[in-house]
Amino acid sequence: MARAFKLYDTLTRQVKELTPLTPGHLKFYSCGPTVYSSAHIGNFRTFLTADLIVRTAESIGWKVDYVSNITDVGHLTQDDVADADGEDKMEKALKSKEGAQFANVWDLSEHYAELFKDDWMRMNLREPMVRPKATQHMREQIQAIQDLIDKGAAYETPSGVYFSIESFDEYGKLSGNVDRDDLRTGVRDVVADDNKRHPSDFALWKKDDKHLMQWYSPWGWGFPGWHIECSVMARDYLGETIDLHAGGEDLVFPHHECEIAQSETLTGKPFSNHWVHTRFLQVDGEKMSKSKGSFHTVRDLVEKGVDPLALRYALISVPYGKPLNFTMQTLKDAVSHVERFRECVSRAEEVLGSSEGEGAPTEQLQQIYDQALDAMCDDLNTSVAIAKALEGAKVILRETEMSKEQAEAALWFIHRVNGLLGIAIADTDAACLDAASDEEEPTVDGKTITEWIDERKRARADKDFALSDKIRNDLAAAGIELRDSPDGTTWSQISSPL
Ligand code: AMP
Ligand code: ZN
Repeated sequence: MARAFKLYDTLTRQVKELTPLTPGHLKFYSCGPTVYSSAHIGNFRTFLTADLIVRTAESIGWKVDYVSNITDVGHLTQDDVADADGEDKMEKALKSKEGAQFANVWDLSEHYAELFKDDWMRMNLREPMVRPKATQHMREQIQAIQDLIDKGAAYETPSGVYFSIESFDEYGKLSGNVDRDDLRTGVRDVVADDNKRHPSDFALWKKDDKHLMQWYSPWGWGFPGWHIECSVMARDYLGETIDLHAGGEDLVFPHHECEIAQSETLTGKPFSNHWVHTRFLQVDGEKMSKSKGSFHTVRDLVEKGVDPLALRYALISVPYGKPLNFTMQTLKDAVSHVERFRECVSRAEEVLGSSEGEGAPTEQLQQIYDQALDAMCDDLNTSVAIAKALEGAKVILRETEMSKEQAEAALWFIHRVNGLLGIAIADTDAACLDAASDEEEPTVDGKTITEWIDERKRARADKDFALSDKIRNDLAAAGIELRDSPDGTTWSQISSPL
């Protein structure tokens, strides 16, 4: 029987089955980053939710058309109100100390977009089918704005083009911000334009011939509002009605509310049938945001020697709808758990002599995997799914004398679990820390790392896993991480922040 995949839907405020319009073929849009600095681990908590949705859907046999954009224009600093004002995030970054290294705002956004893609790979996230950029879809955005004007839902003023929220009866249905008067008083009147019909009408186009990124439009030089890009790119790549749309909890209002108003006015059809939002990550009990100085980027942590898979493990260890308080202890625990999976792989490969030997699962491992998959289909219950993955690893590592069949079953299990959770094996080399083979080799307790690796190899050949684990742990305590692969064992130095 086909499995049901259930997710909490922000729109209907209940956990409901995700039902693609074309059965077994999910059309999924997830809002990507604004590329004005390196992405922080909070951003990645949200991107990981999208990744886990893709992995779970694939694990139950669905095809997934997955689009995740890059915002490289139009995202202003005061983005908590529908009609944002303030400085453009990109322009502000250019004027900052770090921004001084860039010749212009285009170079800056290109630079951070590239860094972002590296972080994405390191964190073992599935590549989207397409990663469109707002600046590459300007013609379509201008056309969509013109269409909204033609439909009577938008109007021009001396400062820009605005969407009239009173033209869309259902404005507020996603966020629950339905009281027009509340909206009126709740919103700081950030855009000084007395010609706006309602204070909460939001900008589709901002007229500005001084802006560092500007385009010519029927309304003169300027740039698009932030919300229109996602309406346009979702429709272009996935069609008028999509199955699922996702982002962080701050996007419910205004970003997604405004996307719905624009898209449904343009097409007269539902925009997305399901909406998923990730609770914000906190660090040491505090809200984390780019504007605060106290955040960790993926890049910083990885450069300090944190294993990206352990970071991934830590960020998904709590289900996306619950608060996650990230601490260094969470990360420390994750390191040892990820090592368990690696240990399973290296022991199985030692028996089989290669990584190609995946075979039939044992009944017990099949059952444990099924339970992990059930947990993921139950609103991405990652804490149960991870517990199941560890249970499987325990079963595998219990065998001191693994038979060929057991080794094949072990690889079957680890590959399935990895397909689902991505915490055991990096899909690309970028997720591996570079082996520090060309650095001068340090010694630990009077022996070089190579000597320790040889000793561990002998211990494993003698099936003395207690000794082999001890060597690995002693080296880890001395800041040396071992990586096993079919080609042998490599090491890297962890100048760990843990
Ligand atoms: P931005 O780069 O600011 O456009 O954000 C990219 C994504 O990260 C959006 O979906 C945000 O909702 C999400 N996000 C921002 N901060 C956090 C956080 N602390 N925890 C989880 N998600 C976040
Ligand atoms: Zn978006």
